[in-house]
Amino acid sequence: MSAPASQPLSFVKHHAHGPWETYLAQVDRVLPYLGPLSRWADTLKRPKRALIVDVPIEMDDGTVRHFEGYRVQHNVSRGPGKGGVRYHPDVTLDEVMALAAWMSVKNAAVNVPFGGAKGGIRVDPSRLSAKELERMTRRYTSEIGLIIGPQQDIPAPDVNTNPQIMAWMMDTYSMNVGATSTGVVTGKPIHLGGSLGRVKATGRGVFVTGREVARRIGLDLDGARVAVQGFGNVGSVAAELFAAAGARIVAVQDHTGTVYAPDGLDPVALVAHAKRQGGLTGFPSSENLAPEAFWDVPCEILIPAALEGQLTPARAARLSARLVLEGANGPTLPEADDVLVERGIQVVPDVICNAGGVTVSYFEWVQDFSSFFWSEEEINARLDKIMVGALNRVWETAQMHRIPLRTATYAVACERILTARAERGLYP
Ligand code: NAD
Repeated sequence: MSAPASQPLSFVKHHAHGPWETYLAQVDRVLPYLGPLSRWADTLKRPKRALIVDVPIEMDDGTVRHFEGYRVQHNVSRGPGKGGVRYHPDVTLDEVMALAAWMSVKNAAVNVPFGGAKGGIRVDPSRLSAKELERMTRRYTSEIGLIIGPQQDIPAPDVNTNPQIMAWMMDTYSMNVGATSTGVVTGKPIHLGGSLGRVKATGRGVFVTGREVARRIGLDLDGARVAVQGFGNVGSVAAELFAAAGARIVAVQDHTGTVYAPDGLDPVALVAHAKRQGGLTGFPSSENLAPEAFWDVPCEILIPAALEGQLTPARAARLSARLVLEGANGPTLPEADDVLVERGIQVVPDVICNAGGVTVSYFEWVQDFSSFFWSEEEINARLDKIMVGALNRVWETAQMHRIPLRTATYAVACERILTARAERGLYP
């Protein structure tokens, strides 16, 4: 007779295409490869700790508004929680739980000594003044101060958060504990204990893992056509590095529109335009496409670097790309994964593809503790080494079991997490 299963979580709403369901489906696919460690697999299917906080602030016009904030620690078996903070009107507990879980897998995949965590506030930050944004960030930091700390859980930037917001978080936490604590967040400004190379690290990691897999599947980057969805921190840097390696950036999409130029777009000029105009639309010498047409653009490499759930089965069936590099977290629905596998399209999954950011965040945290800072060349070289090493291990696992790279990455990572779980044992 088998033992009764763990009780399902009562606080998660079931919706089939929600990010948490996507994550659970990804975990289910790895269970057959975990051997005796699968005894501990339920650990992966529930967060260790989930904190919901009320964030009231006084607006510039004297009114008071309340925002809903979250900090979730999914797993801390391998080290303190680590993961970004997202400001977006669609943030939900379900989403933050999935993002925290993906951080556990990601940190284990690149073997940095962190567990997985994530945070967020349900807010459209573009509607706040700078002062309101600062007040909201400081109150949120104070509220989650119960569970964050340099040895407990270390936030970082994610969608719509940046080094300035990290500086406010670091200052607030430091004021509350009565000592400057630079190691409580990463992605800080350089002169406040930030690391050189951090801002570009995620995009650089997308490039490095893409370069490695392209070589293995015989895809020459020189002249390769690249389409990028999301032109923020991750997408723009990845585009710049691919262009520098000889690839042609043929289409780019952001929340304002889609620009297309079969002969190639200049990513540096695109960044300047997006900064000036608040988005990509209207970029000179390019065609504006309808958003859905982005998925039909002829290309060899597709980089989804915006939000979750973008690659649906219908879009996956139309893609011309040979290689998908997941700059975003959770951009591909599990059913779309199946379509991509059937069509022989190689996917470098988020949990390794976009792990460059957290890898350099790890370097930042180490530098903060030792108060000794490295050069950018040193950081980029160490980043390259870790990403290439992690990719090699995942590639070998995929070849050995004849499984997609996503399942292989989960196999490598979940084995590390559950081995730590098993070795630590259960308290009490
Ligand atoms: P960002 O805020 O800098 O940029 C987000 C981009 O996505 C913007 O260009 C925005 O216009 C675009 N976008 C938003 N909604 C869109 C839509 N519906 N259609 C098309 N484009 C849309 O964010 P970022 O830091 O570049 O993060 C992007 C993704 O990468 C997220 O999934 C994030 O979790 C993931 N990620 C970021 C980091 C990091 O270090 N910043 C690390 C790992 C993963």
